[in-house]
Amino acid sequence: MTDIIHLLPDAVANQIAAGEVIQRPASVVKELLENAVDAGADNIQLIVKDAGRTLIQVVDNGKGMSFNDARLCFERHATSKLSSADDLFHLTTKGFRGEALASIAAIAHVELRTKMAEDSTGTLLLIEGSEVKEHTPTATTDGTSISVKNLFFNVPARRNFLKSDSVEFGHIEEEFNRVVLTHQELAFSLFHNGKLVLQLQPSNFKQRIVNVFGAHFQDKLFPVEQQTDFINISGFIAKPENAKKKKSEQYMFINRRYVRHPLLNYAVETAYSELIPDGYKPAYFINLEVDPATIDINISPTKVDVKLQDERLVFGFLNSTVKKSLGQMSLTPRLDFDYEPGMDMSNMPKDMELKEPVVTHNPDFNPFHSHPASSGGHSSYGGGSYSKPSSSHNTDFDTSGWSDFLQSLKTETVQQEQTEHPTLDLQPAAETEEKAPVDDVKCLSINKKYIVANIAGGLSVIHIAHARERILYEQYLTAMQQKPITVQQSLFPETITLSPAKSEMVKELKPELLKLGYDLESIDGTHFAVNGTPVDEEEDVQQVIDAFLESYQSNMFLHHADKESNMAMSMAKQKCNMFKPMTEMCEIRDFLRQLFDCQLSNVSPGGKKIIHQIGENEMEKWFD
Ligand code: ADP
Ligand code: MG
Repeated sequence: MTDIIHLLPDAVANQIAAGEVIQRPASVVKELLENAVDAGADNIQLIVKDAGRTLIQVVDNGKGMSFNDARLCFERHATSKLSSADDLFHLTTKGFRGEALASIAAIAHVELRTKMAEDSTGTLLLIEGSEVKEHTPTATTDGTSISVKNLFFNVPARRNFLKSDSVEFGHIEEEFNRVVLTHQELAFSLFHNGKLVLQLQPSNFKQRIVNVFGAHFQDKLFPVEQQTDFINISGFIAKPENAKKKKSEQYMFINRRYVRHPLLNYAVETAYSELIPDGYKPAYFINLEVDPATIDINISPTKVDVKLQDERLVFGFLNSTVKKSLGQMSLTPRLDFDYEPGMDMSNMPKDMELKEPVVTHNPDFNPFHSHPASSGGHSSYGGGSYSKPSSSHNTDFDTSGWSDFLQSLKTETVQQEQTEHPTLDLQPAAETEEKAPVDDVKCLSINKKYIVANIAGGLSVIHIAHARERILYEQYLTAMQQKPITVQQSLFPETITLSPAKSEMVKELKPELLKLGYDLESIDGTHFAVNGTPVDEEEDVQQVIDAFLESYQSNMFLHHADKESNMAMSMAKQKCNMFKPMTEMCEIRDFLRQLFDCQLSNVSPGGKKIIHQIGENEMEKWFD
């Protein structure tokens, strides 16, 4: 019998590898830019023609290569960045697999010019489809220039699959952004078809973001910061009101490498879930620093997907750090407790406390079990009532276990806060008076719809219905989690009738409805006796429950909220318009006190703006 197995020639093996590493012109851009960064360059130019079809060139002023290395770098598994398998767990470079240049050379015409500072001459190397055409000394500047021409000249299937120039250039810009955003200390420039598209000077992270995405980002960003022994989190998140309907700028970097990690994306998006409407996406630019030994980058050829050793911990830290920032953000418009004319906005009142969610972890919790051993005994959390926020990245990602985990964090956090800040009370108690003395605040109600108040030296217009929705929402959450609303039993229970689907829902939500003050008992399939309602309830129960269930049901499909948040949101929505207009000053002040005692006071649970601020500067402009 004859043997039929043989080793593939290098050129073929490289072309196969190229199939994974180089999918489109943007992949070449990524690899070349990363090599330039690894080479220690501080000025990097990217020159592109016809969205990369004709030319992709990267010129750097890095350390360059020797005559022999210039040839060797195009061999498969040729790298200067790794020598033993152990090094894989201490990586500080972008590249390490030694296959990018070999892959690119297999499917394009490549011209390399390189020179090390200590050498008097440089090297020119021409290579086409893995075949070296020229390798000679040449005069060139210090650093490296690699030109990649006629990409996919020998892979027609790939070439024909390329999209329009605008789409391909979009991908190139995206790869460019991913590199420049995590290397703000380096200068970059990007040229397309002879025109300068972007020039970036060394700067700080925020400035780099603004330079890349435009001046309108300047005021949209809010910092995130958390330093622990285990992880450092830094960067910026966009304010909820700047969330975008479609794709948003979402950048996650781990150890200065852009990564795609559905779980981390989820950790950020769920922190926003109450603050932005369905389908909207928050922008974020977050850097995580972890011990390189705890992360595996080598799980895909493009090194964009990574595996973290302790995903649960990273998830928890990230989620609570983002929440903390969002909480601080919501405190920006505060009541000006000790108002004096001319007082500066930055003079925050001394007695103002920042309510920071506390990072707490339940060590026994396993996110992969659907019923967490949650501290509050809310075993119903595991009932699969969560849906994940839609994400461009997490199409096939099951986040249900993580929702439970998140919920357990949330419960612990809320409880802890409640003991520290007992201000979220259904009946605003007298003691809150001391905590939030709003008596000096001048305010008035306009058209029963708005409150205008002097806050922090400026003018704040407060949307009453949105604010009421926020207050009620937080009260209902508290009611379900720790302090049920008192039920007033009725002597002669009235009967309500619901559709079969809604009747099923009532049966499922019965315990929580009871905590919200509604004691409903099934008589037969679709009829319920109303044995009790919340104290002081005057509304028509049939109407409230019907509308509540309507909203609950649509939230279930649309909104990425857990069962309790959804219930609180739906009930708050029904009730917020049922209040009598406020007429007395003390009522308005009481209302403001309740609003500013909320964990988040500038956005409704449905993501609508509550407060519009008009600063003194703006007022001055009116009269210029
Ligand atoms: P990797 O980056 O994974 O090591 P590459 O195929 O991208 O693999 O590059 C192979 C080697 O070529 C690198 O390890 C590096 O030593 C060298 N190299 C590539 N690009 C440059 C550059 N711009 N400047 C200096 N050396 C480079
Ligand atoms: Mg490389």
